Amino acid sequence: MPLADVLVDDELLTAVARVISSGWWSMGPEVEEFERAYAAFCGSRHALAVSNGTAALHLTLLAAGCGPDDEVVLPSLNFVAAANVVSHCGATPVFCDIVGPEDLNLDPADVEAAISPATKAILVLHYGGQPCDIEPLLAIANRHGLALIEDAAHAPGAAVAGQLCGTFGLAGCFSFFSNKNLPTGEGGMIVTDDDNLADRVRLLRSHGMTTLTWARHRGHAHTYDVVARGFNYRLDEVHAAIGLVQLGRLVAANESRGQIVSRYRAALERLAGLTIPFAPTSANVSPAHHLAVAVLPPRSSRSDVRARLSECGIQTSVHYPPIHNFSEYANQAGARKLPITDAMAPRLRTLPLYAHMDDQQVALVIDSILGVLGH
Ligand SMILES: *Cc1c(COP(=O)(O)O)cnc(C)c1O
Repeated sequence: MPLADVLVDDELLTAVARVISSGWWSMGPEVEEFERAYAAFCGSRHALAVSNGTAALHLTLLAAGCGPDDEVVLPSLNFVAAANVVSHCGATPVFCDIVGPEDLNLDPADVEAAISPATKAILVLHYGGQPCDIEPLLAIANRHGLALIEDAAHAPGAAVAGQLCGTFGLAGCFSFFSNKNLPTGEGGMIVTDDDNLADRVRLLRSHGMTTLTWARHRGHAHTYDVVARGFNYRLDEVHAAIGLVQLGRLVAANESRGQIVSRYRAALERLAGLTIPFAPTSANVSPAHHLAVAVLPPRSSRSDVRARLSECGIQTSVHYPPIHNFSEYANQAGARKLPITDAMAPRLRTLPLYAHMDDQQVALVIDSILGVLGH
């Protein structure tokens, strides 16, 4: 039982074969269509396809003006890419704590406490596809005149009161890595309603060049200027074609993931001490259910649980080792105390979760965990 899995079928193979046969492999009609469809799905003005989720975060921070002497506030309980790209902008990541064992998302009160005159942006995460407490976070950002940027890598299709994650702040960043809810292999997307941000991202995505190969190919342009020091962070046609197929399946896939998490919760919470965070509280909140995370009982050994589940053929993982404990980020000047993250992190264990898990596979995970922890 792998932690995540992709479903391969004829529709995907046909889409890929169509692009390969077309002979046009880099940015072109598939990317344009994927961007159009993704923007429509999110209800945002712009969607900009990029090579991966890390590139989405990097370009968004740069386009939002993050640079040297700036600080960006973000959760330590996140994938390290977020902190790395803050650093690549020349800015300093300032880590914040989470709410608690039931809610592993950013604590708005700690975000407020972390803001300084140098703060430029708040980079929120929707942990495991669970929308973070967006209203107070937006209020804090507005009150201090800061950009709110969403690391929505876990949250394509997640929504609060019908509004999609990724559309709450200045921009939302998505990843289409193979183990994400909308997998294309590598890939990413930035959504925004801000025309200036979209223009800046478009420029930086392709070397700071004023016209693109695709436009030149169609005879729309013959030459170009370079007006910024950009990157090659483009998505290609094959990945965009896969993305279009996967986008059509996203809502149903998120729904199946939710049903599996409900089964885990119903079967496993009877175990003393083990909790599945983010118990549903409001019909307003539609999570994307990217991860099935369990908080193990306080005194159980996480490595022992991992080893014993592995003997049962069940892969588990940790999302995440907190960023502030990695060698590269430890001992940062002015490091903030993160007591909840420090208390929760050693107890987190992520269980297998993908949309096409069948009933027997779900039962196998449940029975194995009951066998390991249930006495
Ligand atoms: C996967 C992920 C990223 C990075 O995305 P890539 O496409 O792998 O570059 C960033 N943030 C979070 C929360 C992620 O899960």
